[in-house]
Amino acid sequence: MSKTIIIVGGSFGGIKAAWSLRHLLDVKHRILIISDKPRTTFRASFPRVLFENLDPEKITMDLSENFKDTDIEFVCDPMTAINQDKNEVICQDNRYQFDYLILATGVRHAYELLPGSHEFGLSVCDPARIIETREALLNFEKGEFFAGVGAGYTPCDGPPMEVLMNIDHLLREKGIRDKTNLHYISDKGHLLPPGGPKVWKYLDGHFKKRGINVHLEVFLVKLDKNRLYFKDGKTMPYDMCLLVPPYRGIPAMENSGLTDERGFVPVHMKNMLAKESEHGNIYAVGDCVGNPGPKQGHLAFMQATVAAEHIAWRVNQKGLVRMYLPEFRCVMDQGGGIGLYTYSQYMSEGDGLKIEIGEEPYKSKIRFEEIFMEKKGDIGELHHQMMK
Ligand SMILES: Cc1cc2nc3c(=O)[nH]c(=O)nc-3n(C[C@H](O)[C@H](O)[C@H](O)COP(=O)(O)OP(=O)(O)OC[C@H]3O[C@@H](n4cnc5c(N)ncnc54)[C@H](O)[C@@H]3O)c2cc1C
Repeated sequence: MSKTIIIVGGSFGGIKAAWSLRHLLDVKHRILIISDKPRTTFRASFPRVLFENLDPEKITMDLSENFKDTDIEFVCDPMTAINQDKNEVICQDNRYQFDYLILATGVRHAYELLPGSHEFGLSVCDPARIIETREALLNFEKGEFFAGVGAGYTPCDGPPMEVLMNIDHLLREKGIRDKTNLHYISDKGHLLPPGGPKVWKYLDGHFKKRGINVHLEVFLVKLDKNRLYFKDGKTMPYDMCLLVPPYRGIPAMENSGLTDERGFVPVHMKNMLAKESEHGNIYAVGDCVGNPGPKQGHLAFMQATVAAEHIAWRVNQKGLVRMYLPEFRCVMDQGGGIGLYTYSQYMSEGDGLKIEIGEEPYKSKIRFEEIFMEKKGDIGELHHQMMK
């Protein structure tokens, strides 16, 4: 019997799940990706858009074109709801029946939970605002510069760090670094908590060396034109502020019965099956997952592989399903063609740890992006081999 597997979301998690399934299932089984947008942008390269004038078009994939002649179907049709009883994805134009469903819908940027964050804060996440952010950053010359995350749940700390390192580099190049105070703010207790103690210690020293002030466990709750307001009543003046806004799940999943109080989908981590899936056939991967942990592209790839292998094992009634052992793997742009690679098995009680700074991590990230685009997202295990 032929099965239909629908994947909602056409980015890291969705694309990886589709290719993994395509390699594991006979072509008689239908694989359909549904996304609300015709294109997807490789956001991990946004620091190069900001500081190296990289044209966003170069890191943007046209999804119809990408999946042409691949035995993976693509349709652009925004999902508006999920009907679990009928195994149906309801979209703006059509309804789609599934045997298995993988949700890879990412997050909604909930600016409203951090008043002022849209009006006064710069964005490093939003493709529609990235050019406006670039203009502002390149013209910044002096004052109090803040970057980070506010109160309200944002498990994505890397991008604002990359911006700070790049701004530090840029101002030094211009010979005006002494006119600026750089600040990193976070509601968390450590720099990159999922990296573990050795990564925290390294980053503490790294930020100190570059003269960047770190404010941990500060809960930014509001900003106006020139002042930041924290939960404990303190305020700080600023000249420029870049924030990753609070994260929430997408509205289309609100009444699906699948989500937690923030709109994310709690899953069983061994197979990515949604805990509240009525028929045991709905999975979630990537940033839309509700379980604790960082929201990272590398983890979206790992989760997508596990979900795909689990579905293939059910359909084929044989095969292997890998265990999900989350690991922290991240290359952060430092400016001037330098990258900082951190790898740690801390989240899974492993011993692996690697920290490397230099040209090679920077180049490896670019290579990864280029291969991702060239291979139409069919990257196999490449995300595990970023530094090789
Ligand atoms: C600036 C920046 C830099 C980053 N750098 C790194 C990095 O170096 N390394 C790393 O590992 N991670 C990085 N990340 C995190 C990484 O980008 C995310 O973790 C990753 O994109 C999550 O993938 P995803 O597929 O789960 O979600 P997303 O990439 O958010 O994709 C969600 C998809 O769902 C679609 N969608 C949304 N709503 C609907 C709907 N109603 N109907 C249909 N489709 C819908 C969207 O259009 C999109 O295609 C970075 C993030 C940012 C913002």
